[in-house]
Amino acid sequence: MVKEYKIAVIAGDGIGPEVIDEGINVLNEVAKVDGDIAFDFTHFPWGCEYYAETGKMMDDDGMEKLKEFDAIYLGAVGFPGVPDHISLWDLLLKIRKGFDQYINIRPITLLNGAPCPLEGVKREEIDMLFIRENSEGEYAGAGDWLFKGKPEEVVLQTGVFSRKGTERVIRYAFEEARKMNKSLTSISKGNALNYSMVFWDQIFDEVSKEYPDVQTYSYLVDAASMLMIKDPKRFEVVVTSNLFGDILTDLGAAIAGGLGLAAGANINPERDYPSMFEPIHGSAPDIAGEGIANPLASIWSASQMFDYFHRPDLGARVLKAIEDVLTEKEYVTPDLGGNASTSEVGARVIHYLKG
Ligand code: ATP
Ligand code: MG
Repeated sequence: MVKEYKIAVIAGDGIGPEVIDEGINVLNEVAKVDGDIAFDFTHFPWGCEYYAETGKMMDDDGMEKLKEFDAIYLGAVGFPGVPDHISLWDLLLKIRKGFDQYINIRPITLLNGAPCPLEGVKREEIDMLFIRENSEGEYAGAGDWLFKGKPEEVVLQTGVFSRKGTERVIRYAFEEARKMNKSLTSISKGNALNYSMVFWDQIFDEVSKEYPDVQTYSYLVDAASMLMIKDPKRFEVVVTSNLFGDILTDLGAAIAGGLGLAAGANINPERDYPSMFEPIHGSAPDIAGEGIANPLASIWSASQMFDYFHRPDLGARVLKAIEDVLTEKEYVTPDLGGNASTSEVGARVIHYLKG
């Protein structure tokens, strides 16, 4: 019997709709080739244009509507003129938090044919899976602003690390490392952040006892930043906090082909709510509407969707097709040094999927 997945599409702003269209074509093509799965897409026009028309980033009952879906496929939100704190908090973070998507998965893999600014690095030397805490930590939004405008003005930004929140992301990472038969590296900063990161390290130690089969490493975030450049092959599965993960995965994107190739998944592992798949780049207003945005990041996040639907074979197939396109080099967008359009790249991925 054919299994049909209901996908909510929020293409969003700028290049979002351009790249998401190609991702949808790829999802449909894989379903067609496979024959056992199908997709039913429902489009929601939410984002900054919607905000300009209605004063809202999404409908009031938006979360209720989204709840019914198996997954959310998101392009990009944000556009000049709409303050970031509105576009971010009223849509993206609302979904991440509201659906308890506490795991952010970002593959940092240098595919064959992808450009790398590090000299002499081979494909298999950059192959990391970043698991970033996605619900609390430094981005909990806690703090205070005291004596505003006075000479004694003080601003507090508080990291919130609950036992539950810290344990669950670390445990998830151990499970992934065990499944993949890879090492797990924790990145923290216990020498300077004397509450939060000491706690993080303690919990990492505690949970590691349940996984004696998983080789572990622990690095300070400053040392890790240097090592990701100097010796990236040290890192396999990596678990880190919200802030450190945010920064290090941008660094990772830079050494693995750039923003046009960086994908991310926001996962609610319990599957109580839909998970969300998105390229990690923004709306790129500078190139929006020109048809030259690189769709490979959003196609890669479509590949992550297959993994999430327990079809890693199909996820791997999509990744292989991306790699074929990159290796061929004829059909890549300007950010990768080519002159193909967004839709030509998408069509080429489909060409390789048909095989
Ligand atoms: P936002 O405010 O939505 O985050 P931004 O201006 O920060 O948008 P990003 O999308 O985060 O832009 O990326 C920064 C720059 O990288 C873009 O301006 C664009 O030039 C380039 N870029 C990002 N994504 C892509 C892509 N998919 N293809 C080609 N270039 C891209
Ligand atoms: Mg940005």
